[in-house]
Amino acid sequence: MKIHKHDAIIIGAGGAGLMAALYASKGGADVAVVSKLYPTRSHTGTAQGGIGAALGNLDEDKPIYHTYDTVKGGDYLTDQAAAKILAENAVDAVIELEHMGLPFDRTSAQRISQRRFGGHTRNFGEELVRRACHAADRTGHMILQTLYQQCIKNDVSFFDEFQVVDMIVVDGALAGVVAIELGTGEFHIFHGKASFFATGGWGRCWSVTSNAHSLTGDGAAIALRRGVPLQDMEFFQFHPTGIYRMGILITEGVRGEGGVLINSQGERFMERYAPSAKDLASRDVVSRAIYLETRAGRSIKNRGYVHLDIRPATVNRYFAEEGRARADFIDDATVERKLPDILDFCRTYLGVDPVKEPMPVQPTAHYAMGGIPTNVDAEVLLDAAGSVMPGAYAAGETACVSVHGANRLGTNSLVDLVVFGRRGGMKMAEFARSADWLPLPADAGHAIQAEFERIRKSGGQSRPGELRAQMQATMMDNVGVFRTQETLQQGIDDLAALRERFHQDLRIDDKARVFNTDLMEAWELGCLLDLADVTARAALERKESRGAHSREDFQARDDQNWLVHSLVGHDGNLANPDYTLNFDKKVDLSLWEAEEAQGTPEDQQKFRPRERVY
Ligand SMILES: Cc1cc2nc3c(=O)[nH]c(=O)nc-3n(C[C@H](O)[C@H](O)[C@H](O)COP(=O)(O)OP(=O)(O)OC[C@H]3O[C@@H](n4cnc5c(N)ncnc54)[C@H](O)[C@@H]3O)c2cc1C
Repeated sequence: MKIHKHDAIIIGAGGAGLMAALYASKGGADVAVVSKLYPTRSHTGTAQGGIGAALGNLDEDKPIYHTYDTVKGGDYLTDQAAAKILAENAVDAVIELEHMGLPFDRTSAQRISQRRFGGHTRNFGEELVRRACHAADRTGHMILQTLYQQCIKNDVSFFDEFQVVDMIVVDGALAGVVAIELGTGEFHIFHGKASFFATGGWGRCWSVTSNAHSLTGDGAAIALRRGVPLQDMEFFQFHPTGIYRMGILITEGVRGEGGVLINSQGERFMERYAPSAKDLASRDVVSRAIYLETRAGRSIKNRGYVHLDIRPATVNRYFAEEGRARADFIDDATVERKLPDILDFCRTYLGVDPVKEPMPVQPTAHYAMGGIPTNVDAEVLLDAAGSVMPGAYAAGETACVSVHGANRLGTNSLVDLVVFGRRGGMKMAEFARSADWLPLPADAGHAIQAEFERIRKSGGQSRPGELRAQMQATMMDNVGVFRTQETLQQGIDDLAALRERFHQDLRIDDKARVFNTDLMEAWELGCLLDLADVTARAALERKESRGAHSREDFQARDDQNWLVHSLVGHDGNLANPDYTLNFDKKVDLSLWEAEEAQGTPEDQQKFRPRERVY
């Protein structure tokens, strides 16, 4: 096996990975980025809506308001000290991106332009604030391009189309990773003083998802198998407006511009579920409402979808009813100008023109709130007490700091990438300066090579595509927007049967080594099955409803018993793992406690868990 030696190895070249690479290199480390995709094809490039930062360019805004919204949006499971860092660092990070050359849209006063997004408010919930900084509706694309150019400028080495498949752990510390070069099928070892996981999410566990095909949770699954417990896996966000059956995302911006959700009776049903926020209520609330309408027989053609209507005649009628100013009214040209990509998706993939017809939408699996546990410096944690795994770092969607708690606010993922990617990159460089090289074990990479040989030679009956479709269907039906003891148990049983077939009865047709996508997809399916399984198990144990985790048999949020994070561990046996599941990890309430110590009685109330009011 070829061995590459770099101080810092970054796995993944999305926003989190590139920001970490940039800062580790600025800190003097020799950095290699290993990515299964060409960097600018990472999912970060699809983010449209924007990146939240309390710049206050258009409305009065402060980081403390952003902190409050992040805590409340996360249904109080958010670690409050981490949310404060997120909101405070967001301002610097956005300005820094701008200085690097990111072409943000401008206001008439030539400041960075900002737009409204669900849940982002001024003065602790008083009214919606314009906080999302954007570059047209291609913000994520611009972030990726900007960071990639900066990394090239800083002499970061890139290993594109190298897929990391295992960690090398030496005496409890991380000594590097094992990767397959996709073009040749050869195994390589990346020996590093520090390694950083930034491999993104795992929406591909579900059949209807906004996530790209590559989002198979490789980094989280590898960590789980090598002894890192995963945190808060039961919380997976469903975005309410995915294109029917395809799952492609229709941004919340459509509703931000006045779009409304309509059922088969022609009724704007969100008025019943969330009388004040209506269609801009938080994502979990709107997704649940669409499901309840479906159950009540009010989905369109009884097929489980509703209409999202941005036709100017409909929108203006509701604006008139609400007494909105005439200046707010929209026409065809406004829709064309503000939502060009959305119109394009619908016209291309559906043959539906949103200016003339409503769009068919249904909830789509979107974002993993849980993942590899880290502290605020992106150091990987091994237990509830916060023990650090030396040399291991993680940030972005694969990690759980936790700043999103039980439900992420729109625009906060991009902030998470740049804020914690940067902090982690700096910390890695500091670590690499003082740490010694760990010797590589003689058998490094052998176990994973054997696992790949097993998959490559497998001659059973079950093809990966078939197992994947069955996993996605059971996750959608049983571990989706609504959950009960019965559905979750059904999900766990179905997954056990699928895992058994994956380990005992797999069949792949392509036995070659060069660009063997059949082989790589089979291995990725193993990752998805592991993550699906721990998601269902953690969801079964959490006997309350909070944020994106909605139990029909335990409908209330229960702060007394469940204001804690979950941690699921794995014993490393791929075929028959033994899991540990505990809820020992306390939510960090230090900000709340600090407010309590110093603030006025009014301030003290602000960070307390409260009843949901929408
Ligand atoms: C359609 C869509 C729209 C969104 N819009 C917004 C928005 O407007 N605002 C917002 O804040 N958030 C948004 N999000 C969420 C946000 O974009 C993502 O959470 C975020 O971009 C994830 O970034 P990341 O750096 O963690 O990973 P990603 O950008 O997903 O990148 C993952 C990287 O890991 C690499 N990788 C994965 N596995 C391996 C492996 N085994 N070996 C080597 N490399 C590997 C990939 O090659 C890739 O480079 C959106 C998400 C989607 C899907």
